[in-house]
Amino acid sequence: MNQLREFREVMDSASGQPYERSGVLPSSPNRLETLLQNLPGMAYRCLNRTHWPMDFVSDGCFELCGYHRSEIENQSVLWGDFTHPQDIREVDRKVRLATEQRQPFEVEYRIIAKDGTQKWVWERGRVVDIRHDGVAVLEGFITDITDRKLSEAAYIHANAFAQAVVDSVTEAVITIDNQGHIESFNQAAQGMFAFRSTEVIGDQCRILIRTSNYREFDQFFKHCRDQLDPGNPARPTSIGMETRGNKKTGEFFPVHLTIGPVQDKIETKYVLLIRDLTEQKAAEKEAADQRELLAHADRLNTLGETAGIAHEINQPLTAISMYANSGLSFLDRGPKDLSRAREALNKLSEQAHRAGAIIEHMQKMTRPRDSRHEITNCESLIRDVHKLAEVEAQSRNFVIVLDLPVKIPRVKCDPIQIQQVIFNLLRNGMEAMESCSSRQERRIILSVRVIKDGINKTMADRQISDKQTIEKQIKISIVDKGPGIPTDVGEQLYQPFATTKSSGMGLGLSISRSIISAHHGVLEYANNPSKGATFYFTLPCVSLDALVDQTGE
Ligand code: ADP
Repeated sequence: MNQLREFREVMDSASGQPYERSGVLPSSPNRLETLLQNLPGMAYRCLNRTHWPMDFVSDGCFELCGYHRSEIENQSVLWGDFTHPQDIREVDRKVRLATEQRQPFEVEYRIIAKDGTQKWVWERGRVVDIRHDGVAVLEGFITDITDRKLSEAAYIHANAFAQAVVDSVTEAVITIDNQGHIESFNQAAQGMFAFRSTEVIGDQCRILIRTSNYREFDQFFKHCRDQLDPGNPARPTSIGMETRGNKKTGEFFPVHLTIGPVQDKIETKYVLLIRDLTEQKAAEKEAADQRELLAHADRLNTLGETAGIAHEINQPLTAISMYANSGLSFLDRGPKDLSRAREALNKLSEQAHRAGAIIEHMQKMTRPRDSRHEITNCESLIRDVHKLAEVEAQSRNFVIVLDLPVKIPRVKCDPIQIQQVIFNLLRNGMEAMESCSSRQERRIILSVRVIKDGINKTMADRQISDKQTIEKQIKISIVDKGPGIPTDVGEQLYQPFATTKSSGMGLGLSISRSIISAHHGVLEYANNPSKGATFYFTLPCVSLDALVDQTGE
């Protein structure tokens, strides 16, 4: 502002008025000329009246507002005429206030230049005289600051944009100084820690960490400062750690924080990025719990298989012991019953083999892909399982009624697995009917039908030739007269561990279903119209071509 001061001096001398404070005498007119021309703006003298009529302006006037000096000085255009309408009141207010207080004023406002362009100007002035009519005479200087304003606006915009970006991220973004003092705290940080930014700015950032983790955090921060030092040629871009955050409410929560350096002109600052791990940890825990549950289920499954095997094996063992006893008693009776003793021993041996086969195949029950599928005579499969189940049925006072068609086509299956499924369904039926007292009711029907297009027909009905067995299915049903299945149970029945029995594993149906679907069939149930439930499954019959391939027939 030295130039302005000098200008004041020359202007005073030029206008013939004594310079009120210093009383410096006018300098040469040349010096005045040069000074005014070199000023980056316009000097003026005006009255503090509406729209500030000016009686003197310097040469810079034209460049500043596009009006010639003469237009302004003869007051055909007043300065206020082209002061921006939105700014004029505020300029007027400030000038009046300063005038009353005999203080210099400084204002920034917009003008509309003669060519219509809008410019920002900075003006500084003061009262130099009060006329006899009480109107203040002002003198001052106005300069164009449009460029500065534009770059300021661009800066503010860029800053606002950067701030908006920082505020839009879901992670807490906190800037800290070299000593760990918080300098900024974005919106996500405020939400995460429940602190307003004004409450934490200037505080040590470790207040956001659980007290018992202070030491660990301090070490981490020190390590970051050492590692991230700009002097360190191999410095990483950021370093992270997991710790516990501390909310204003005193609540702790798991967080992951990353520290990265920002090189300020004066010192290195740091950006602290904090991610709330609460949800991630909960999801990890759920996954771990789920794994544990599955592992548990697997253990139970194994147990279930063992229990199942033990149960199945009891049947042939009972039969073995029965045949052994009768064999012994036939032997005791002497040579006349020797052939019956042999027959009993043969049956005993048969049952012993069956027991071995059950153990071997039961282990494969839950691993259908390991099973051995073979072209199987379905009738003997059914008769075998019937024989096996009969032992248990008799001991429990049940009757299993066989309902077979004249001829049953062959199926490709793992016979032991299918027997186990049938056995399991028969046993479920018996258990369902445990409370039935009448001998008449304690009957389970094991029936086989050949079906095509959903219509049940026995082979006898249809007189089907081998050729026609192609694409046919057999349907095996186990019909009981128990209480049936409650209508709201639905698919739940097949879920592992779904059981209503105190000693049940709830695995029978789920394993049976997976075995049947591995055989390309379906296992389903329906309540009978009269009483009880029917569980049934289908197995595709073997086509002739397949038969030839498999058997070489
Ligand atoms: P578990 O026999 O060990 O309970 P399952 O998977 O074989 O396991 O059977 C699951 C449940 O289905 C049984 O607990 C029972 O409630 C029901 N259920 C199975 N078969 C029948 C049936 N024939 N009649 C009525 N309920 C049955």
